[in-house]
Amino acid sequence: MADADRYHRFQLWLGLLGFTISVAYLLAVLLTGAGHAVGQWAARVTPAAWAQVALVALALGFGHGALGLLVTLARGYWLPRRFGLLHQPPRAWLADRLKALLIAGALGFAAVEIAYALIALTPYWWLLAAAVFFAVQIALTAVLPIWVVPLFYRLSPLADAELRERLLTLARRAHVDAVGVFVADQSRKSRTANAAVVGIGRTRRIIIFDTLLSSFTPEEIESVLAHELGHHVHGDVRRGLLVQGALLLLTARLAALGLDAGVPLLGLAGPADPAGLPWLALVLLALGLIQLPLGNGFSRWIERQADDFALATTGNAHAFIGAMERLARLNLAERRPHRLKEIIFFSHPALERRIARARASPV
Ligand SMILES: [Zn+2]
Repeated sequence: MADADRYHRFQLWLGLLGFTISVAYLLAVLLTGAGHAVGQWAARVTPAAWAQVALVALALGFGHGALGLLVTLARGYWLPRRFGLLHQPPRAWLADRLKALLIAGALGFAAVEIAYALIALTPYWWLLAAAVFFAVQIALTAVLPIWVVPLFYRLSPLADAELRERLLTLARRAHVDAVGVFVADQSRKSRTANAAVVGIGRTRRIIIFDTLLSSFTPEEIESVLAHELGHHVHGDVRRGLLVQGALLLLTARLAALGLDAGVPLLGLAGPADPAGLPWLALVLLALGLIQLPLGNGFSRWIERQADDFALATTGNAHAFIGAMERLARLNLAERRPHRLKEIIFFSHPALERRIARARASPV
């Protein structure tokens, strides 16, 4: 079996193991009455509702993190290292992960507090929560390239004047004016290559990994940039936010129904009882699983459109296919995943499918 297939098989099994651990943990907390015990402990420590929610959330989160630690390490460090996808020194890797954990932890913690404050306030909490989270999502999209990306990468404007002129000419041809092109120093961490359009409005910019610059021909880089320009022209950041917003609203409504159903089932004092937090987490986990193919289906659809745009703009299917081949090798991509796996987990069409579409394109 090829390296790529072995790598992704390991990743899939470990991912399923991690998911099973999460579900088993939450079920165990609920069925053993540990959820109630933690809720009662929190109530003894403090009378303030928000502080009780905080204690239960922290206890639950730490337990979950500790149980899944080995799987997290295997998926994020050991496997990529073993397959040559990661050469970042352990200390730098750990620093990156801690930063990510702090950001995600702080956001998750704030989300729980906001949700429970609204649950205590009104039965329509889900509507308000969805509105607040949607606003936060838009704000995060805007600040991502300015505040978050620089925490993980050094960004510098593309220095190669000839290439820059070439890429700007391409952008003009695509009727996109004055887009900043920045290079991220991915090569310090990994050999994997990528490019992305990030930000919204005035913070929007195109970011290219330096790994791409060092090993791709100028025509291939143009193909990759043209794909990213396609996202820009199609307003994909905005379209993505709209779809996420719709999914958010649906999730919040279903989560509210799930939480209400859990109140008599688990003997909670009410929906705002912090002892119901593991139940809410379980409901959200299930809803997230259902959403996965929906979100990824939408993503593959806009990715296909960006590919078509790239082919039409460059008129160079040969370079596009060359870029895909190179990306596949560097990123150890799974070229021909099982169709079901693609439908559930893939944010981009499978590589063979993208290449076949380029071959069949009229350019
Ligand atoms: Zn794309």
